[in-house]
Amino acid sequence: MEQQNVKMKDLTPFSKVFVTKCTDYDVNNIYSNLKKSIGCFDDLSSFIKKGEKVLLKPNMIIGKKPEFHVNTHPAIVESIAKVVLECGGIPEIGDSPQRGTATELSRIIGYDKIASKLNIKIVDFTEPRISFYKDSKIYKKFEIDKKIFGYDKIINLAKLKTHASAIVSLSIKNIFGVISGPYKIEKHLNCRDNTELFATMLLELYNIVKPSFNIVDGIYGMEGDGPTDGVPRKLNMLICGNDGIAVDRVICELLGIDHNIVPIFKANKKLKIGEDNIKNIEILNENIDDLKVSDFKLPTTVSKESALPIKLLKRIVKSVLNDYFLTRPVISQQLCKKCFKCIKVCPFNAISNKNNLVKIDKKKCMRCYCCHETCEYGAIKIKKGLI
Ligand code: SF4
Ligand code: SF4
Repeated sequence: MEQQNVKMKDLTPFSKVFVTKCTDYDVNNIYSNLKKSIGCFDDLSSFIKKGEKVLLKPNMIIGKKPEFHVNTHPAIVESIAKVVLECGGIPEIGDSPQRGTATELSRIIGYDKIASKLNIKIVDFTEPRISFYKDSKIYKKFEIDKKIFGYDKIINLAKLKTHASAIVSLSIKNIFGVISGPYKIEKHLNCRDNTELFATMLLELYNIVKPSFNIVDGIYGMEGDGPTDGVPRKLNMLICGNDGIAVDRVICELLGIDHNIVPIFKANKKLKIGEDNIKNIEILNENIDDLKVSDFKLPTTVSKESALPIKLLKRIVKSVLNDYFLTRPVISQQLCKKCFKCIKVCPFNAISNKNNLVKIDKKKCMRCYCCHETCEYGAIKIKKGLI
């Protein structure tokens, strides 16, 4: 990956997205579907050239086993690793989870078994390098891990999930993992509760990292209060493409999500990093009508209304009533195991341990939901506000 002076990607008139039906995590089936999908974009010898070093970047969020459908399923990682090896490439599995390292989480998720079976490395991103990107429109500085710059190609392996602040966590959101752990908190601090600003940062980061291919694991997705405390849902879909925005846009279409409410697409209207007009996206392979769902549950944080007067009202209520009426995280003292990970992860120092009770200070909380996604015990719930 080249460092600095990154140019904004030229949009081709049409982006292509491959959607296929996969009903289980059978590696042989996923492997052949991935090869078919890649074949629609490139021939295999150009997809990965002999000797190229390739980062496989799964979504490693917390240490949970595959049946919880919180992280990218190991079968997806194994299948694409086999394709890369077959092309003569050198795959490595890497990420920078918010808490813990890729090596530690891999032992729970099961990537360690793939690594030893296929003789590939698991890489921890623990060495941030501060780099400046003068062509980025808003964010000029990123603390991307040093090792990322050593890869010839990056394959983005996202998990299809809801997300309390981003609404959906798909290809674009998954790239946040290349930012070294502690600097993730700084990014949240910069954006406070401005979800569109955070989405702008993610888009600019995606444009710098430029994964050569995006694969979203939607065989089982997560609905409701994702990305860690939602409900797994069998969706039977694998979605791939080289334009992450187009991939994410097609997923919204499949799930019946109004993309206009998703911060990534609001930010993309200004930045134009990828194609978000569904009419300009060619959907390859399956008849997508068979895969569409009409009752996909969004996070509690999503208001049914998104009209301007409600937004204005929210701002007024926020200042006048000191946030008491807004949707926010709350800690269930029954479920809390006092691991204190949420205290360490909160960018705004809004969580503390008082008399052995972990509590959130409503006045300090910016509703970034980092604590919600970090809690491995489902003890941080999202409480719907009155508006
Ligand atoms: S709320 Fe969750 S993350 Fe926070 S201390 Fe309790 S168990 Fe740990
Ligand atoms: S308490 Fe949770 S949601 Fe509130 S600012 Fe801290 S991490 Fe973000």
